[in-house]
Amino acid sequence: MRINATLINLFHVCKRQMWLHAQGIRMEHTSQVVAEGKLIGDTSYQSRAQKYTELQIGNIKIDYYDAKNKVVHEIKKSDRVEYAHLAQVKYYIYVLKEHGIEGVTAILEYPKMRQSQVVEFEEGDDELVLKWVDEVKGLISQEKCPPLIKKSLCRTCSYFEFCYSGELPEELI
Ligand code: SF4
Repeated sequence: MRINATLINLFHVCKRQMWLHAQGIRMEHTSQVVAEGKLIGDTSYQSRAQKYTELQIGNIKIDYYDAKNKVVHEIKKSDRVEYAHLAQVKYYIYVLKEHGIEGVTAILEYPKMRQSQVVEFEEGDDELVLKWVDEVKGLISQEKCPPLIKKSLCRTCSYFEFCYSGELPEELI
């Protein structure tokens, strides 16, 4: 599987979640939280679809890209800023750089909190992103599923039932 921004994001949330996603095991359709997030993404900034363009380049697809100002706009349903979000947009900027688009920044937008955060690509970020990519590649090539993290975020994870109901095949646990 090619590394993509979703895997980079999930790598920073839960390595088990990232591994399951990479194996094509999807539970999003059962998750109220995911449905709510999609609704927020679809309705929070409807006008932006007219202002910004969708950009598909390499292995990334950016829904809202301001080509004139070279800004990636990423909407998050979360009610807190998470490092995983920052990692995701840094990965976008890294891929854009690899395709010759320099000087890109990103804005993480949090409609629930009515907040936004500017993300710059800083010195050392190339190495940082490459390190994440290497680690993601290593993890998804493993045959065994990484262990449960047993944190509060499990409650809102789309894999909650999957992880805690013993449905995972014995050999993967
Ligand atoms: S339920 Fe918890 S351990 Fe399982 S994938 Fe989700 S966050 Fe990770």
